[in-house]
Amino acid sequence: MSNQFTRRRILFVVSAPSGAGKTTLVEALRKSPNFYYSVSCTTRAPRAGEIDGKDYQFLSDADFRARIEGGDFLEHAEVHGTLYGTLREPVLANLKNGLDILIDIDTQGAATIRTSDDPIIRRALADVFIMPPNLEELRGRLTKRGTETAQQIESRLATAAREMELWRDYRYTIVSGSVEEDLEKVRHIMAAESYLSRRLKPK
Ligand code: 5GP
Repeated sequence: MSNQFTRRRILFVVSAPSGAGKTTLVEALRKSPNFYYSVSCTTRAPRAGEIDGKDYQFLSDADFRARIEGGDFLEHAEVHGTLYGTLREPVLANLKNGLDILIDIDTQGAATIRTSDDPIIRRALADVFIMPPNLEELRGRLTKRGTETAQQIESRLATAAREMELWRDYRYTIVSGSVEEDLEKVRHIMAAESYLSRRLKPK
């Protein structure tokens, strides 16, 4: 069977409200072989320890807007007053080169990708929502992380509450537990997606 078919690649889109433990989850998933992690562009300032080109491509507002004008983004959105976007070219190039892709974006970005006019993108998509246990737990996690001011935490919690309404739009929803549990669940989803009949292409 393995030499009768090739498998079309998968575009995994993971959305999780801030502080749902996603960074650790994504770090672990990034280590999987034959996998490309799409590094987003953002206008936000780097947090301590974040590396340009690895965590994000940090752009000025003017550069980001020029790239919007140039049609460089597969999707882009404003989140907490900051611009974030996924570059189109690396996603398409890596799908073509036979790599599965992981992108970590908010619910607006996921909605844009779901309604993409590119059939290759729509067919490749598998979207996953990580549902935080509840807002109080989320508040606790964000406070513990200590990278945002109290006001920024409130803004992130308000966004999280809005995002948590949108879980039904995703093919999969994981109710967040420990990072290890979430990771195992995402890996199960990834395996199941790779066995979908429609992803197989006779050679
Ligand atoms: P953070 O600033 O905490 O790294 O990310 C804030 C939010 O922006 C998260 O919900 C994250 O998923 C989202 N985000 C990161 N990169 C992108 C992107 O390229 N596009 C969109 N739409 N959202 C993004």
